[in-house]
Amino acid sequence: MNNPLLSTAALPAFASIKPEHIAPAITQLLCETRAALATATSDATPADYDALSATLGVATERIGASWGAVGHLNAVANTPELREAYNAMLPAVTEFFTELGADEKLYAKYKAIAAAPNASKLSAPRQQALKLWLRDFVLSGAELQGEAKARFAAIQERSAELGQQFSEHVLDATDGYAYYATAEELQGVPADAVSAALEAAKAEGKEGHKLTLHFPCYLPVMQYASNRELRARLYRAYVTRASELGDKPELDNSAIIEELLRLRHEEAALLGFANFAEAAMVAKMADSPTQVLDFLRDLSRRARPFAEKDLAELREFAAKELGLSDLQPWDSAYASEKLKEARYAFSDQEVRQYFTVPRVLAGLFDIIERLFNVKISEQQAEVWHESVKFYQLVRNGVLVGQFYLDLYARPGKRPGAWMDEVRSRWARPDGAQQTPVAQLVCNFSSPVGDKPALLSHDDVTTLFHEFGHGLHHLLTQVDELGVSGISGVEWDAVELPSQFMENFCWEWEVIQQLTSHVDSGAALPRELFDKMTAAKNFQSGLQTLRQIEFSVFDMRLHAEVGSEAAVQALLDEVRAEVAVMAAPAFNRSQHSFSHIFAGGYSAGYYSYKWAELLSADAWSAFEVEGVFNAACGQRYLQNVLEVGGSRPAMESFKAFRGREPNIDALLRHQGMS
Ligand SMILES: [Zn+2]
Repeated sequence: MNNPLLSTAALPAFASIKPEHIAPAITQLLCETRAALATATSDATPADYDALSATLGVATERIGASWGAVGHLNAVANTPELREAYNAMLPAVTEFFTELGADEKLYAKYKAIAAAPNASKLSAPRQQALKLWLRDFVLSGAELQGEAKARFAAIQERSAELGQQFSEHVLDATDGYAYYATAEELQGVPADAVSAALEAAKAEGKEGHKLTLHFPCYLPVMQYASNRELRARLYRAYVTRASELGDKPELDNSAIIEELLRLRHEEAALLGFANFAEAAMVAKMADSPTQVLDFLRDLSRRARPFAEKDLAELREFAAKELGLSDLQPWDSAYASEKLKEARYAFSDQEVRQYFTVPRVLAGLFDIIERLFNVKISEQQAEVWHESVKFYQLVRNGVLVGQFYLDLYARPGKRPGAWMDEVRSRWARPDGAQQTPVAQLVCNFSSPVGDKPALLSHDDVTTLFHEFGHGLHHLLTQVDELGVSGISGVEWDAVELPSQFMENFCWEWEVIQQLTSHVDSGAALPRELFDKMTAAKNFQSGLQTLRQIEFSVFDMRLHAEVGSEAAVQALLDEVRAEVAVMAAPAFNRSQHSFSHIFAGGYSAGYYSYKWAELLSADAWSAFEVEGVFNAACGQRYLQNVLEVGGSRPAMESFKAFRGREPNIDALLRHQGMS
């Protein structure tokens, strides 16, 4: 059988890959990679960087690319047959890579390379790649012996189980709640949300409108329902999900939270760290939990007066215009929405008419070409859907990278927007230069009739964001797999290039280039742009404090050994320190805080604000020198984008900015200076 997943061609044959190709190809590649691992770790293979690359490096890259292509299709062109074939191979692939990450012989080989007399002669990117491999082995417990090793493995397993249970409880508590509202109770709620609720009730043979705690239902009710009792009812149900105050005691996450925290601190202690947060900082740009808390508290102190002003305005408006003299947490989304409408009357629909996809792409490509000295052109390649386009980036006649662009929502495509690697830049052991390939995926509304597709300003910002990740991956000049592009970049610095790109969408000079009214061809009027800018920072003080509350809570939970004994007390303390509006005593938002208990954000929730500070500060250089300034673009390209993960992100930032990051630009961009 001619299996496209076994092809060694430069690009995956996306249109030719069929579900029946998956099991045979992946099974064969797993077998070959295991053989390569055995060769690489045998005594016959010297402890030498090149020797390891030529055996194990080539094999893992090949299975990674092949399995990556399957994963991409599973995400963007899902069918029941494909999903089944993907799920059938998933456990074997996961198991192999878990084993690889803890392989003792391989760890010994890397240690031998690092300890060899010529180690210091390795190129800087190779030294960094080696350092990261060794670091990850240590964090996976590779240095542990005997009982400690067994205990570490048991903790890993139990933690994964608890994380899974935590998110199942949140999901079941969210799914399990229903309130059947009358049409009268739903006054003010947008028609599409009302009819969706009516349909949901009908489907169950019930009277009324089924309200659930899923966000697309919960949010419109909280924002628009004029019925206060209804909002209070839903709010209470929402913030007590999966807690001892929820309506299903079997879904209470309290015990899981306690056990998880205890296990995390124990795991950190086994690895020789004082607490879990210290261990979590190893792979991050921030130095220590104290540095993070100092950053958060500084930001909190500066945002506080703005948050107090936001709240005072909201209270005044609610009392005067809405007759709500004692503003409660279940009123704030509703009152905020009304205040926003009163202040900045413009609609998303109005703005959309100016952002056509061809115009936005032309403007975006122009920015990239001018700042980073490349030419972008459309090329032919095998794609998974007729609407997908393929482009190349060329500099002075040399291919730099290529990307697929899949913009529109359709059945069988996962929601959201993301950038994914198809291939990474690598000077291959056989001497060939591999160039990076990226996949950029969004879920915008398709064009209707013969008119171009229209984007909201949010959509445009999302597109720029994902291109920021894409450029980080595509423009790298690092030749070492593992630290080229986004590989090896610290976890809390990955969003710097993506958030950086969003800034272009708020520049008048840029907006004029990105817009052309679908009928008249006119650029976006200045008056409308000014309203959009003013609305951007609406309640930014309150929003900042909310993010800080979550971040400080997360960091302290993971930095204070024994925190599991008094989670609620800690949260109350953090709220008393940070929040300007008191949460009701029954609020148990920690019980559904999946980011830190079931996601990868434990002792990492601060990263959102951290990366915002970095990207705002990087952007401020362009504000001074000009948003199209080629010299500034070159400095950013060379010092941040091209170096990828080959050196610490702080070094890259300082090389670009000439100093350490500071908070001024972030405050200014959010109207808090
Ligand atoms: Zn991102």
